[in-house]
Amino acid sequence: MCGIVGYIGKRKAVDVIIDGLKILEYRGYDSAGLSVFDGKKIVTVKKKGFVGELEKNAEGLQGFCGIGHTRWATHGAPSDSNSHPHLSGKFALVHNGIIENFDDIKRQLKEKGKRFLTDTDSEAAVRLIDDMYEGDVLKAVCGAVKKMKGSFAFAILCKDFPDKVFVVKKQSPLVVGLGEGECFVASDCMAFSKYTDKAVYLKDNEVGVVDKDGLSLFDFNLNKKNFRTEKTDIGDDYRLSENCSSFMYKEIFESPKALQYTAADFFADTATQKQVIDIFSKHDKVIMLGCGTAYNACLVGKNVFEKMLDVDCETELASEFRYKNPKVNSNTLVIAVSQSGETADTIAAVKLAKAKGAGIAVITNVRHSSLTRFADVVLHTKAGAEVAVAATKSYLTQTLMFLLVATLLREGSKVSEEIKKQILKLPQTAEQALKFDALMQKYAKKHCQKQSVFFIGRGMDYALAAEGTLKLKEVSYIHSEGFAAGELKHGTLALIDKNALVIAIATQRNVAEKTVNALHEVTARGGKVILLTCFEKLKDTKGAEVILLPQTGGLLMTAPAIIPLQLFAYHMSVERGINPDKPRNLAKSVTVE
Ligand code: GLU
Repeated sequence: MCGIVGYIGKRKAVDVIIDGLKILEYRGYDSAGLSVFDGKKIVTVKKKGFVGELEKNAEGLQGFCGIGHTRWATHGAPSDSNSHPHLSGKFALVHNGIIENFDDIKRQLKEKGKRFLTDTDSEAAVRLIDDMYEGDVLKAVCGAVKKMKGSFAFAILCKDFPDKVFVVKKQSPLVVGLGEGECFVASDCMAFSKYTDKAVYLKDNEVGVVDKDGLSLFDFNLNKKNFRTEKTDIGDDYRLSENCSSFMYKEIFESPKALQYTAADFFADTATQKQVIDIFSKHDKVIMLGCGTAYNACLVGKNVFEKMLDVDCETELASEFRYKNPKVNSNTLVIAVSQSGETADTIAAVKLAKAKGAGIAVITNVRHSSLTRFADVVLHTKAGAEVAVAATKSYLTQTLMFLLVATLLREGSKVSEEIKKQILKLPQTAEQALKFDALMQKYAKKHCQKQSVFFIGRGMDYALAAEGTLKLKEVSYIHSEGFAAGELKHGTLALIDKNALVIAIATQRNVAEKTVNALHEVTARGGKVILLTCFEKLKDTKGAEVILLPQTGGLLMTAPAIIPLQLFAYHMSVERGINPDKPRNLAKSVTVE
């Protein structure tokens, strides 16, 4: 959450920063701001609202060095004054994270006579650095961060050094891009990938100084550190083409490509396959964990593992797991799932499991993300950049990764060509599912005024219902819940009347008819039902509008079933006049707790 951009070089800093902030806007969009050196002083502009608002107000700003920020507020309402950068004395600072002891710092500084102008935790950081400054910025920054608790990535300007950007990282992500006579700072390398593909991913407890010629890095005791330059592999996915105005829509349509790349890459990567076989041979219990959509992918993963493998398998919400006393030891393999690899709760859960001796496998879409640093095995999904807050193609690749791993473990080191062929057909099936677009738009027009929508299914279909409901609430703001179909009669049926819409999913042969029983219980009480099924014999189910999905076989049904539900959520959002890419109160890549 929150996007940071910094620049020092030969271009107009404001242009690079605004461009970068627009790309990072998925990380937060309640306000935005920037500071640049105009030759003499630091000039700051900050505004409530989208980056577009800032752009209008920052027009014409001169200077070749600056920092910018797009905010997702944790402390203090979205407002002009609470927007970043925050200022104190000679300093301007942008922050991603939470300073947990900001109140203590604030009190101590107030006792010394300092005035505070905002409600944010971040202002405490810049005032503390300013307070400790005696001419050496790195010394002041290190002294200050040692007093801070919580998570932070900072980019900092100091009036005394108009050609430098200072950077610090603890828990929140920060990456430096190295160009020719210019350097970049960002929360995500997408922000500068059009200028350079050379990146240095800062590690926790590192502080650095960036000028046009490069980066110098230190630990918090100011010992110099070496670093590795990585080559970034961002394609063009993070930009919208002229004929598509929504990232969510675009990304749903990129699912076939994402599935194809993920499967092909996995089958070609024998080194990772070997690591997978090796790590599973050393552990006899699996815990899959993640948050939000990534957690829902774990629910699918559990179904896949239980059906295909003889393994003791649990799922956990990472945000809960981290505060439990989980029964984890060296026999446990944790599979952590996070699209960005920066999800704070998931990182904390993984650290806890690792401290207890567990093996760690990470499924992520971002190869050099923070989460991968704790991993014994990294399973890289190849979804490409995902910008919309509502995860779509990344979910499908995460569920596919579970299937690929289970297939490998069941088949042994050599997956047969026949099975590979079946899996490699998935992109084609996803293409077929995309053809429901017009139909889902029709349903959205019909049902967009509904107050409640329920999703039901059993087994694997229940896991899919969990994702169907999350997608709908995220982007349409309609109350929605997902239920195990057999549970309806144990309580939820009380909510069903003629105003309710129930979406039933029946793709698993052993339970499909049981789900249809639940569906009849709904129609008998006047509720409207849409049934998604791949079984021809259910196509005339009485009382339901039936969507006949392509039949791919039980465990391969995730893509054909979920794509229509993603499209439904998207069209519901549009019909209700909402921007599906920027749902209220949310942001992608949840880097705060
Ligand atoms: N805590 C800071 C604020 O509220 C930054 C929030 C974040 O990184 O999401 O402004």
